[in-house]
Amino acid sequence: MSKTQLVDQFGREITYVRMSVTDRCDYRCVYCMDEKMTFLPREDVMSLEEIQLIAQAFTELGVTKIRLTGGEPLVRRDVLSLFNGIGSLPGLKDFCLTTNGSQLVKYAKQLKDSGVNRINISLDTLNPLLFKSLTRIGKVEQVLEGIDAAIEAGIENIKINAVVLKGRNDREIMSLVDYVRSKGINISFIEEMPLGTVSSHDRAETYYSSEDILKDISEVYPLTASDLNTGGPSRYWTMSDRASKIGFISPHSNNFCSECNRVRVTVKGELLLCLGNENAVDLKQIVRDNDGDVEVLKQHLLDAMSNKPKEHHFTVDGEVQVVRFMNMTGG
Ligand code: SAM
Ligand code: SF4
Repeated sequence: MSKTQLVDQFGREITYVRMSVTDRCDYRCVYCMDEKMTFLPREDVMSLEEIQLIAQAFTELGVTKIRLTGGEPLVRRDVLSLFNGIGSLPGLKDFCLTTNGSQLVKYAKQLKDSGVNRINISLDTLNPLLFKSLTRIGKVEQVLEGIDAAIEAGIENIKINAVVLKGRNDREIMSLVDYVRSKGINISFIEEMPLGTVSSHDRAETYYSSEDILKDISEVYPLTASDLNTGGPSRYWTMSDRASKIGFISPHSNNFCSECNRVRVTVKGELLLCLGNENAVDLKQIVRDNDGDVEVLKQHLLDAMSNKPKEHHFTVDGEVQVVRFMNMTGG
């Protein structure tokens, strides 16, 4: 019998795919991009139709969760047609977006209509000046209005993602917690990952561990560990007096590889089997060489599973092993 599910050699079933739809962005966050970025030439970027076909192949192989990310997904021209296409794929149960929120006032309602049920919005501070300095461009008011628009549109799961850098925004942790408590939404704190070399700060010096954040919050709001699993890498904690959950994504201090259920597809169409590893399969070329034959593509996806490594290898004070920036990989 031919295989119809994506299972790797360690028995991990792949049910979650993160796809980057553009490497471009309207912000230049200090931990993600250099101030002057060179973006990919158009021919290297997958068309929206190619992204749709790859999403279809994955769902036909048992993937139930797709997250669109970037770069900033909502700055790609005509991206709503992709949302509508992916949102109507049979078998898809969880349709997610990671966004910086800058375009949500404009798009929240249409995203909801396309089937998006989960949005992660990046927000590292509520302070307008600090926000500007961390994103180099952004206006925090625009993002806050975007978050309200997503809540109003009725998106079921809204979560803030905050990357914490020691000495830059570690003092913002409690105001972000109070903000999500007031809005009835969730938050995940992310340890900075060494993806691409950045010039603005030394990553070893700005490292702030999830454990430290947990300690900071627990001093004000007692936290209880929760077994909630949203199919992603966050581990969640709850507070007794509010519904908001506090998550931690801790690639350094917490190795989540054994439960890894996901792969990524970059904007160039490379299938990345592991975030911290360079093994890649060129799906764009496979699609272009085979006139978009979905069955051929599915066979390549099934074959690729044997190359998924057991775990990722990067450490906070070790050498940068991954030269790609996060906007290429898709966070
Ligand atoms: N532009 C969208 C956004 O900012 O949400 C989607 C893409 S962004 C690359 C996805 C997530 O990756 C964001 O939450 C961002 O904060 C995070 N990120 C970017 N560079 C990172 C790094 N070096 N370490 C940890 N998280 C990073
Ligand atoms: Fe753009 Fe998101 Fe990277 Fe910030 S984290 S520069 S918003 S892609």
